[in-house]
Amino acid sequence: MRIGVIGVQGDVSEHVDAVARALKETGKAGEAIAVRRRTDLDRVDALTIPGGESTTISKLLVQLDLFDEIVRRASDEAMPIMGTCAGCILLAKDAGVQADKTRTKLLGLMDMAVDRNAFGRQRESFEADLQVEGLETPFHCVFIRAPAILRTWGECAPKSRYQDRIVLARQKNLIGSAFHPELGGDLRIHRWFLDLV
Ligand code: GLN
Repeated sequence: MRIGVIGVQGDVSEHVDAVARALKETGKAGEAIAVRRRTDLDRVDALTIPGGESTTISKLLVQLDLFDEIVRRASDEAMPIMGTCAGCILLAKDAGVQADKTRTKLLGLMDMAVDRNAFGRQRESFEADLQVEGLETPFHCVFIRAPAILRTWGECAPKSRYQDRIVLARQKNLIGSAFHPELGGDLRIHRWFLDLV
């Protein structure tokens, strides 16, 4: 299998590295490649969308002619996508007033509403060990100017919470994470993602 990492902005190399390590750990044959062009996108079986700046990533996806094709493949072909932080924001159907103000075009694939920068600014970034549904022991979660998932509906289900807020959700072939599972050595969420492919 070939896993694409949207490579236009954000923590791209960390994502490529985490996917490559997860493939190796699980013994699945495959590779991780950065996706910057339509020809890259056409070659991949699944995608991750990194953290970074959601408005910038969104604009670049449109400019590079990737945006509509990502939506089409996720909806028509059930291509698996995992979005972390900024990527999670882009997967949401609703990202509140901040997305409206910046006219951020959302991929809008997951039945969830998110609040950008819900935990404050860069210096309020934090880490926490959280219970994740399906994992036996807590997962070490890194939050960097993270969004919160305010609510889910339809087929989207919460999978982890920090205090009273949802920070991980799954809807069929799609995973949205407010934190960064690609940072740090624990690849259990990546393995879960690879099982969808
Ligand atoms: N706060 C950023 C945004 O709104 C996301 C931060 C991140 O991806 N680490 O796009």
